Amino acid sequence: VPAKIKPDATTTMVCGYCSTGCGLKIHLKEGEAVNLSPTTEYPVNLGMACPKGWEALSVLDAPDRATTPLLRGPTGELEPAAWDVALNEFCDNFKRIQSESGPGSVAFLSTGQLVTEEMALLGSLAKFGMGMLHGDGNTRQCMATAATAYKQSFGYDAPPYTYQDFEESDVMVLVGSNLCVAHPIMWERVCRNPHAPKIIVVDPRRTETAVSATEHLAIKPKSDLAFFYSVAHVLIREGWVDRGYVDAHTADYDGFAEFVQAFTPERAAQASGIAVETIEALSRTIHEGQRVSFWWTMGVNQNYEGTRIAQALINLALMTGNIGRPGTGANSITGQCNAMGSRLWSNTTGLLGGRYFTNEGDRQHVAGVLGIPVEKIPTEDSWPYHQIMEGIREGKIRGLWILCTNTAHSWIHQSDARELLGKLDFLVVQDMYHTTETAQLADLVLPAAGWGEKEGTFINSERRFGVVKKVRKAPGEALSDFSILRLIAEAWGCGEMFKEWTTPEAAFKIIQRLSAGLPSDITGVEDYADLDRAGGAQWPCTEKAVDVDQQRRLFADGRFCHQDGRARFLWEEPRPMPEPPDKEFPYLLLTGRGAASQWHTQTRTSKSAVLRKLYPQKPYVEIGAQDARREGFRTGDRVALTSRRGRIEVGVTVSPTMMPGQLFIPMHYDVTNQLTLAHFDPYSHQPSYKDCAVSIEKAAK
Ligand code: SF4
Repeated sequence: VPAKIKPDATTTMVCGYCSTGCGLKIHLKEGEAVNLSPTTEYPVNLGMACPKGWEALSVLDAPDRATTPLLRGPTGELEPAAWDVALNEFCDNFKRIQSESGPGSVAFLSTGQLVTEEMALLGSLAKFGMGMLHGDGNTRQCMATAATAYKQSFGYDAPPYTYQDFEESDVMVLVGSNLCVAHPIMWERVCRNPHAPKIIVVDPRRTETAVSATEHLAIKPKSDLAFFYSVAHVLIREGWVDRGYVDAHTADYDGFAEFVQAFTPERAAQASGIAVETIEALSRTIHEGQRVSFWWTMGVNQNYEGTRIAQALINLALMTGNIGRPGTGANSITGQCNAMGSRLWSNTTGLLGGRYFTNEGDRQHVAGVLGIPVEKIPTEDSWPYHQIMEGIREGKIRGLWILCTNTAHSWIHQSDARELLGKLDFLVVQDMYHTTETAQLADLVLPAAGWGEKEGTFINSERRFGVVKKVRKAPGEALSDFSILRLIAEAWGCGEMFKEWTTPEAAFKIIQRLSAGLPSDITGVEDYADLDRAGGAQWPCTEKAVDVDQQRRLFADGRFCHQDGRARFLWEEPRPMPEPPDKEFPYLLLTGRGAASQWHTQTRTSKSAVLRKLYPQKPYVEIGAQDARREGFRTGDRVALTSRRGRIEVGVTVSPTMMPGQLFIPMHYDVTNQLTLAHFDPYSHQPSYKDCAVSIEKAAK
């Protein structure tokens, strides 16, 4: 080992990119991180890490780190400012807007990347301290559908599984999920399954995961509901329903069974392009499996029918009794490192802990635990992300505080989103980097510390709290988001309300008190050190973390979180695509993750020379061989893609992943959302990123 990275000590913490939540051993020299390696003992990754994890430290050294507050000056440029000036500008402008247009005229948009303690402090400061009514997270873009589906079906946002289920299933149905690329360490866990599971991938694209599966069912995009309802139809027709489980633990099954009578395999075959025999064979496979698990990610969540599709999978798990046992479950895999923290603790559209702003008892309880007047808690739910954006259009939102997310790149129908951000009276962006597309539009940039430069907890996809630590000093005057929030509370004049929130660990204790009695109760965890020693702890955890079994699933007793203890069957008639391909725009554009080395808008991954080598730097569109032949395209040609909202030029790649009539662009390039259509699932309000009609032609030289 070269002397400069030869460690004199090590410590452990969880990775700050994806929801897998791998444990990393940080190599320290004189107290500073100099290198890292995956932790072999951590129950999540068992000694493995993907390229992003290996490169997690290198992106902290980027030259475009925000190292001082930046304020847009008279020349129109962002110029360095002292912290006290920045805080005054923050408070003066937001208070002015609120006094002119009401407290709800300032809102915030945050992220699934902050630690849980920062999320809870942000949501509490903004709503209880500053009087805001509206705030949401970028988690609206990736997992709101799963959260809504679970709340409606189970009575609480409670993904039931543990990663060990990857190794214990004998049948796995993966829907709209490219695990190999999006969650590579979870895929490694699947590969360790000793039961030689049948893996059925349901996805319009022949992804890396589909190629590696036992069977790939390339359904037509947006035919999911008809397809899964017909699987239920066959299970009922053949008498393959676990009536004992259904009668004991669920409600509304009979209505569902009657509804799916109309979804014959013949009807589903026509809608989905999957043969009748294949639908029947899948139903038989599910019936014959001893431990069947259903998994989904963005192919389901980012869909205008997403909530009902997720529930179509939940229905299949319930009707076959595949839940609460090892290797089973209706299992949403989420995206960001702390999307699960955002789901329960961001205090955005749900009150702290998965409670409800509209419920007086919930408000009283939270006010009591926090020691604040109940009148400080809003009595209405926040607007979700898209409504906040619409609020800007209507002049109802005039001030916006964006933390650790890149709206100007990632929000659907990008040109419209950028125009809306430009309409704001005052835009504050709090981020590690001052060069994001969104920071460049800001009136004020607050420099934030990143992962590795602050402490707190993340909650991973299997509900596991894991600790992150400060192993580097943040550059320049950058501060942890927690410290920035405390400074803002003082400057705003509501610091007294947050006097107990002195450190992230003190905030964790408050979160614990708030969790008491909830399905996500974590009152047993002693402290961060207990979490660290235990290898994290899945909620619920009412004993010391080191004393509990580290692989736990929910609903083993068949009791769900609705008051009557029963899970609900939920269903709905499929709806047509809002913008189907036509003569003018004959292709359907799909978007998604491109490579395991890329992350979201590349704010961080583009800063690593190693990661940059692992994925194409220039945007490209994938097209199937048949379409490419007809259009006269060869890989490397420059093409123009046009939708009703925009026109972009990119390289073309002829790819075996694509079915005829479909194109694919990774979401990581800032051109992608120039094309997408702003439409949403009506229950979760999640954007449907994966269906807009486009045309493609050779670009002029
Ligand atoms: Fe980090 Fe996710 Fe990669 Fe694990 S799989 S190392 S959590 S990015």
